[in-house]
Amino acid sequence: MPFCDILLEGLAPDGGLTLPETLPRIDTDTLEAWRALDYPELAAEVLSLFIDDIPHDELLVLTRAAYAPEIFPSIVPIKPLRPGLSLLGLSEGPTLAFKDMAMQFLGQAFEYVLTRRGQVLNILGATSGDTGSAAEYALRGKRGVAVFMLSPHGRMSAFQRAQMYSLQDDNIHNLSVDGVFDECQDIVKALAGDLAFKSRHHLGAVNSINWARIAAQVVYYFWGWLRATSAAGQQVSFAVPSGNFGNILAGHIARQMGLPIRYLVLATNENNVLEEFFRTGRYCPRPAAQTYATSSPSMDISRASNFERFVFDLVGQDADRVRALWDELARTGQFDLSELQPLLTSRYGFVSGVSSHADRLQTIRSLYRETGVLIDPHTADGVKVASEYIEAGIPMLVLETALPAKFAETIHEAIGEMPPVPAALQDLGERPQRVERMACDASLVADYLARHGLQA
Ligand SMILES: *Cc1c(COP(=O)(O)O)cnc(C)c1O
Repeated sequence: MPFCDILLEGLAPDGGLTLPETLPRIDTDTLEAWRALDYPELAAEVLSLFIDDIPHDELLVLTRAAYAPEIFPSIVPIKPLRPGLSLLGLSEGPTLAFKDMAMQFLGQAFEYVLTRRGQVLNILGATSGDTGSAAEYALRGKRGVAVFMLSPHGRMSAFQRAQMYSLQDDNIHNLSVDGVFDECQDIVKALAGDLAFKSRHHLGAVNSINWARIAAQVVYYFWGWLRATSAAGQQVSFAVPSGNFGNILAGHIARQMGLPIRYLVLATNENNVLEEFFRTGRYCPRPAAQTYATSSPSMDISRASNFERFVFDLVGQDADRVRALWDELARTGQFDLSELQPLLTSRYGFVSGVSSHADRLQTIRSLYRETGVLIDPHTADGVKVASEYIEAGIPMLVLETALPAKFAETIHEAIGEMPPVPAALQDLGERPQRVERMACDASLVADYLARHGLQA
């Protein structure tokens, strides 16, 4: 299936997750030649391996626009913390979280494809914070696309609300729903699942299972490796604060492509379903009622939507086996691959660990005292678990998934001070807000879409 179709559809035609049939392999000479590239050039090289329906020079125009200095004043800097341990700075974009990295590319790609085809797309989504704002900042003012983002009324931080609701662009619609996140998500599923409605109103999605997002995330693993090494074949470990398994899946793909990655360190918070799987081989997702609200809220996930893509590789790309496992999951609530557990590290490089609220605070505090560097609670989970896997001679890069300014309360709890707010966002709280409040009812959202959605 051509990349641009996957981009617009989000899912494969059968409703399943898409993946390339075979992954390209990167040889040492190619990798070494990439050392000279800047970030947009590297992104065009890596993405062109997955994209055969956008010419290379036009792809470079898109990556130059997505990763421009006006959007990322600093592009994926390496920030040293301790000997052998650094942050990979993925949160320098407009919403201060790593989701900008993929979403800014998607914004450019959507506009490119839609104008070329003379089509329109109404992106319908639900957010508990980071994804929605990254999508809105990437798609604001873009031609051919509008965003309808449902958020649970009164459940986001003041900063997150101000970030989203202060956007005044005509093509951005914030709908504040009287309900919790899962109910917002149910409305999205109901409307997108109604195929007649979906096609009549040109609905699209940018959720974390969108293959284009994963592909854009593969780039920064190559970048991190190139910046942390000086010679061919040297190994690097990456630690990834994980929720939906999208970020670390991109690392798995980079490793499968031949990037010399030693460990992929999966860090979870108290919601440790994935940590348990990588430790034991048993997958036992918890019901929503047992998914804890933690101080690293963007990782409060018990059913990681991208996990199936990794299991596909683990069972030797046997689609029938994956189907049988997910049938078993639906029947019994779990499945057991403990016979394959040794391969998780030996063949795929995965190791895992958990970080608690106390770990998070302690990590933020001690790092701040020791180095003056302030990290956000999610990144702190990554640093805590990474420290268990540091080896001499192998750089460990922790993916910085957000900046501390986004999670001021927890930072204050850890160090007794408020985190610094970037200059461009200091008046965020005072900006006028534009949001439509509505009852938790799919027909009201449908009605709003019918009145405000773009028409072909
Ligand atoms: C989305 C998010 C995560 C989790 O990333 P996944 O790709 O869902 O595993 C971690 N930290 C922050 C700050 C996020 O916004």
